[in-house]
Amino acid sequence: MPISVAIVGSGPAGFYTADALSSSGDAVSIDFIERLPTPYGLIRGGVAPDHQTTKNVQKKYEKTALKEQVRFFGNVEVGRDVSLAELRSMYDAVVLAVGAPRDRALGIPGEDKKGVFGSADYVGWYNGHPDFRDLNPNLNVAAAVVIGVGNVAIDVARLLSRSADELAETDLPEYAERAILDSPVKDIWTCGRRGPIDAKFTNVELREMGKLSESVPLVKAEQLPDSVGELPERDKRLKERNLETLREFCARKLDEKPKRVHFEFYAAPVEILGGDRVEGVRFERTRVEGGRATGTGEFFDIPCGLVIAAIGYRSDRIEGVPFDDKQGIVPNNDGRVEDGLYAVGWIKRGPTGVISSNRPDGVTVAEHIHNDFAGGAKGSKPGRKALEKLLAERKARIVSFADWKKLEAAESEAGGGKRPRRKFTTVRDMLDYLDRNRN
Ligand code: FAD
Ligand code: NAP
Repeated sequence: MPISVAIVGSGPAGFYTADALSSSGDAVSIDFIERLPTPYGLIRGGVAPDHQTTKNVQKKYEKTALKEQVRFFGNVEVGRDVSLAELRSMYDAVVLAVGAPRDRALGIPGEDKKGVFGSADYVGWYNGHPDFRDLNPNLNVAAAVVIGVGNVAIDVARLLSRSADELAETDLPEYAERAILDSPVKDIWTCGRRGPIDAKFTNVELREMGKLSESVPLVKAEQLPDSVGELPERDKRLKERNLETLREFCARKLDEKPKRVHFEFYAAPVEILGGDRVEGVRFERTRVEGGRATGTGEFFDIPCGLVIAAIGYRSDRIEGVPFDDKQGIVPNNDGRVEDGLYAVGWIKRGPTGVISSNRPDGVTVAEHIHNDFAGGAKGSKPGRKALEKLLAERKARIVSFADWKKLEAAESEAGGGKRPRRKFTTVRDMLDYLDRNRN
């Protein structure tokens, strides 16, 4: 009997696991259980709409999805349509690949004011994720503050700064494109609580900020150190490149372009200001000692009507599994959680790393499964047949991979040639489309 494996979540970590398992030569039957009707996790719902080449990785994932032993159960949520305990009773191995979909809290007064968003929600909105398509952020503001200096902060600042021409070849939903283009925003502040050398953004992403047609990046020369200091060789090269780019930005002129992205370092947010709605952010100036930011007791305010906190993510607690609340992950030993239960990707490691960082997780867990089931020889649970029976009893509306291909073709057609696609942004619209196009 093949080893039956359920992979919960169809983002990069889930796909790298399926790829490693299905290439192992073992007799395995692999089922993706995905809460959305659409596959690919943050490739679809996180990666920026103006970075389409990054999304091309999904073509590789598709090859895995189309393998004989792989099945996609879209629109099936663990915790809603089937419990984890049920899955574990039906499958030899269950792999958690559910990512880290929630925003970390800032933990400062005023963060619940209107106009303050976390990047998970805000990025989900501009990417047409059904959970966030009704977020409706008010972009009718003169200034915005982005908290954090990682790559997500850069994505958010860049998308707010793009021109109509630059947005014309993206897959932004129409509502988000309209809101961005109608926005009178002129100043976008991207704020790091530590210094430029500690910033998490990578150089390609930083340099892109200097090439936008309607926006200029600005950096205060006095915030840049003379050198990056003592660092391991690889880090040193990367940080030196960032420092060089930031120096180039220092020479840019305030009035060069209609919009400005200000990089503000040594600025720790301490309070969101305003009444019901945000009117500004109060920061404490910091100094960095031993890599840690320490408040100097000097405070300053940046007036703004929109705040996006791009300060990282956390996973949801999954019923029936231990959860490390502090790190926001499922505790595991190199991907092993309990007998027959494994974790990969952001639910395993926490919310850092690029797409390819998830590949080793998948390879490792595939090896664990091989070793834990008699060298890949012995499965004993029914897997797919039992799941199909249970979901039929519950009248769950399963979206298959063939269904997804129909949705994908419709989105691509709606893109009209220039755009890669116009997305469906509600589950209802996706299911209605499939109902109208049964054959
Ligand atoms: P995810 O991609 O989040 O996939 C998790 C999947 O699980 C989702 O499909 C979700 O719907 C599903 N799921 C969740 N709960 C359940 C449930 N209960 N039942 C069933 N299914 C469930 N990396 C790059 O290399 N380049 C980039 O340009 C880039 N841009 C990024 C932009 C943003 C805004 C973010 C947040 C990250 C970005 N990354 C980028 C990082 C990259 O996206 C992650 O490393 C990667 O997506 C993590 O993979 P994952 O499979 O662990 O999680
Ligand atoms: P990140 O790289 O960890 O950056 C988070 C930022 O938030 C850091 O500057 C951090 O500062 C700051 N921060 C955290 N808590 C804070 C607080 N309470 N107050 C103020 N600032 C706070 O995370 P991310 O930007 O969410 O990205 C997640 C992962 O996805 C990263 O590995 C990233 O590289 C990847 N990604 C890649 C791309 C790409 O390749 N183009 C695009 C997007 C995302 P400290 O350093 O001081 O903690």
